[in-house]
Amino acid sequence: MGRALIIGAGGVASVVVHKCCQNSEVFEEICIASRTKEKCDALKEKLEGGKTKISTAYVDADNTEMLIELINSFKPDIVINVALPYQDLTIMDACLATGVDYVDTANYEPLDTAKFEYKWQWAYREKYEKAGITALLGSGFDPGVTGVFCAYAMKHYFDEIHYIDILDANAGDHGYPFATNFNPEINIREITAKGSYIENGKWVETEPLEFKQVYDFPEIGPKDIYLLHHEELESLALNIKGVKKIRFWMTFSEKYINHLTVLENVGMTSIEPIEYEGKQIVPLQFLKAVLPDPASLGPRTKGKTNIGCIMQGVKDGKPLTYYVYNVCDHEECYKEVGSQAISYTTGVPAMIGAMMVMTGKWKKPGVNNIEEFDPDPFMEALNKWGLPWKESFSPTLLEE
Ligand code: NDP
Repeated sequence: MGRALIIGAGGVASVVVHKCCQNSEVFEEICIASRTKEKCDALKEKLEGGKTKISTAYVDADNTEMLIELINSFKPDIVINVALPYQDLTIMDACLATGVDYVDTANYEPLDTAKFEYKWQWAYREKYEKAGITALLGSGFDPGVTGVFCAYAMKHYFDEIHYIDILDANAGDHGYPFATNFNPEINIREITAKGSYIENGKWVETEPLEFKQVYDFPEIGPKDIYLLHHEELESLALNIKGVKKIRFWMTFSEKYINHLTVLENVGMTSIEPIEYEGKQIVPLQFLKAVLPDPASLGPRTKGKTNIGCIMQGVKDGKPLTYYVYNVCDHEECYKEVGSQAISYTTGVPAMIGAMMVMTGKWKKPGVNNIEEFDPDPFMEALNKWGLPWKESFSPTLLEE
């Protein structure tokens, strides 16, 4: 069917590449481009020989001109951005200049402010509409599948959804005292920032990790969950009819929290540059360099993830409760694509999102969040491509 340019060659990109190669009817040709070309070449070497034709390229995705040149020479139908959130705008600019559709998995974040907001990317709406190209924002798991879950619930079960709790549990064990499951810099910035949720259309801010509960997850068991700010709250509060309150929760073990507290107390999680031996360094970036590479956790991680949404609302005037979730096994993912479940649960939806746009099912000029599209073909594809979902109409609810 067509060609995709995949930008980035990290944990998530590796899964996207594997999945595009499995789906060679849609992805006839891919180009893997990143700033460390060796990583792109290693992926090509691993996957070459199938039906999907693979090429690689060096690109600095902070440089719009270089991106434009690459897009003009490869001529993709879509750009899949699985580099870092800092590159979203330069890549969106390049897509705009070349008239190519765009998909990502995380919203833009300026390097010097840990602030997840859609305003920078939503500012491209009119330009994308005029150019007749589609941007699909947040096609990972959360954001991503969680938005599709909400859209699906809205379409099939509810007249209005009043309360949404998004629950992200990782019961995987990699055997290290401390490591993050995806890019440590992004992960730690997210967790050490203030928490927040939306109530009656307004953000309510909390101290970092201020709210904690225990939730008994299907197939995983009881886990400590903490309220975090998360980017999809912003778009879901606008796009899902009737939402009064929406929160995001993530599991962390006591061991993880203890390590993080110490690192924070000694200043290692700071994003303020400091001078060290005549050089400016950012403590968090230095910490990233000494922590295990998330891509190396694959062979060591055992256990499962469970990510989903619990919704409460009304149908025909009657109250209704609905829980939809996916359970993913780290070891199974590793067997299939050589990555742990965190990369897997992000990479599979990124491939599916790109497929939705490429096949025309989700073609909508403008800049769109994932829940703005018809959820049905995506839900079907999740079952087919490795992230089957389950539903319950009588889940245990969280505390208020
Ligand atoms: P990694 O750090 O493993 O990979 C990032 C890749 O981007 C690396 O290959 C890196 O290159 C490359 N890169 C960084 N800067 C540039 C640049 N300027 N030019 C070209 N390439 C660049 O991260 P992950 O794979 O874990 O995460 C990828 C994305 O997925 C992130 O945006 C993350 O926030 C998002 N994500 C989304 C989730 C969701 O559910 N929605 C969940 C998890 C992640 P190099 O190899 O040289 O470092």
